[in-house]
Amino acid sequence: MKECIHQIKQVLPPKSWSEDPDIIAPYLQEWRGRWQGQTPFLLLPGTTSETADMVKICAAHKTPLTTQGGNTGLVGGQIPQGEVLLSTLRMNKVSTPNLDDMSLVCGAGATLQAVQEAASKAKVLFPLSLASQGSCTIGGNLATNAGGVHVLKYGTAGELVLGLEAVLADGSIFHGLNTLRKDNTGYDLSRLLVGAEGTLGIITAATLKLSPKPQTIVRALVALESPTKALQLLGMARGGGHLSMFELMARIGLDYVTRYIPGQTNPFAKPAPYYVLIEWEFEQSALKNWCENILAAALEAGVITDAVIAKNGAEADKLLSLRENISAAQKPIGATIKHDISVPITRVPDFIRRADLAVLKHVPGCRPLSFGHFGDGNIHYNIGQPENMSGEKFMALEPQINDIVYDIVDALAGSISAEHGIGILKTAQLQKRADPTKLRTMRQIKKALDPDNIMNPRVLEV
Ligand SMILES: Cc1cc2nc3c(=O)[nH]c(=O)nc-3n(C[C@H](O)[C@H](O)[C@H](O)COP(=O)(O)OP(=O)(O)OC[C@H]3O[C@@H](n4cnc5c(N)ncnc54)[C@H](O)[C@@H]3O)c2cc1C
Repeated sequence: MKECIHQIKQVLPPKSWSEDPDIIAPYLQEWRGRWQGQTPFLLLPGTTSETADMVKICAAHKTPLTTQGGNTGLVGGQIPQGEVLLSTLRMNKVSTPNLDDMSLVCGAGATLQAVQEAASKAKVLFPLSLASQGSCTIGGNLATNAGGVHVLKYGTAGELVLGLEAVLADGSIFHGLNTLRKDNTGYDLSRLLVGAEGTLGIITAATLKLSPKPQTIVRALVALESPTKALQLLGMARGGGHLSMFELMARIGLDYVTRYIPGQTNPFAKPAPYYVLIEWEFEQSALKNWCENILAAALEAGVITDAVIAKNGAEADKLLSLRENISAAQKPIGATIKHDISVPITRVPDFIRRADLAVLKHVPGCRPLSFGHFGDGNIHYNIGQPENMSGEKFMALEPQINDIVYDIVDALAGSISAEHGIGILKTAQLQKRADPTKLRTMRQIKKALDPDNIMNPRVLEV
């Protein structure tokens, strides 16, 4: 590795790398404190060709590297453990949207928010929306095939990309930055890099697909008794194809947000076991009555017990921030064991009921919290430590609790990672549960594209 670092320092300008521990330190911190990274050397390429030069040198010395975007990933793949660390943050240029092609080109290090803002300025929409959007990057979004709150209507990050530019493990550049909507010329390399979590190459730029901006957005928070009622409501709310968000929150989640995040309040006087944040988008103005009628019918039928509809943008933002703060609001409660699972949408109530019963039986007093993208069948199932147990003792139970939760997911034909990826957190579970043919094929692809295993070598570990 020493020789590799020496050579990079000879070839690349000083602003494109650093050995200064003070500069490197923030890149090594995982925001929840779950992983502490280590690296002797930070690469900060400003262009694709600099990235290619760096990778070529690493490849020649068989020196492993870890790629990092905004460092908001939740499964540890972006945190190096001794490898060279390559940050994409300097490759952050966002082009002006092309409104004829309805596309936009950006560097992999551009934040999702910068892309959203560029689209919005041109009166169009880039619909990917995550609570981490101020920090996460387009490269990270694509490498993890991120989901978020608008998948229901617009699809995952991978469905919003037209083409990619990337540096492969031998340092060659894949020039796939096209704006084609149709391109059936063999294997889709851009698509292969999506969700690969940096194990097959470094994404350096992307062409993204834009959508027309909705004229009216109606957002509401409803109170209801159970996930089964939420499923009934989803059926009622979907009509007309306007539904763009359907997010479940168990009461305990909203309680954490109102208790621990300043300025947050529950708009209902009486607490309910569950809440759903709903959003409808319309290309024409003022279809608020249409939404009110759906909620009135749901109230009448006993599907929901209460509802508030945002009267303006500020109120709509307030409702969304209740949902977006759930992750941050769990930090003060101590240790949490987190799962990001998906099951067929109709099985979500069954999953929550079975998982709650099973984990409470295994660890009495633990605090299960279900929240997230109910409309996609994707639930973040987080379990807080019991108040009378130490965090360490609780975390020692993580392997058993994971098996309990993932056995239920398997029984319901679901996935152990809906949108966060495998990273280093779930490699053992992937080996244990994935289809053997899929695993074997993944290994063959990895071997073909990265024979010396230098790209994010600890991630996926196929
Ligand atoms: C508060 C909060 C809310 C979140 N909500 C959601 C959500 O709703 N939906 C969701 O899907 N995720 C969510 N996440 C997880 C996270 O934000 C996403 O996974 C995001 O896509 C990661 O982007 P990043 O730039 O931070 O990537 P990083 O964390 O830096 O990296 C993540 C992975 O991608 C790889 N990678 C990064 N950039 C590149 C690149 N250019 N080329 C190749 N590989 C690369 C890394 O090596 C690593 O394996 C949330 C996270 C937080 C903290």
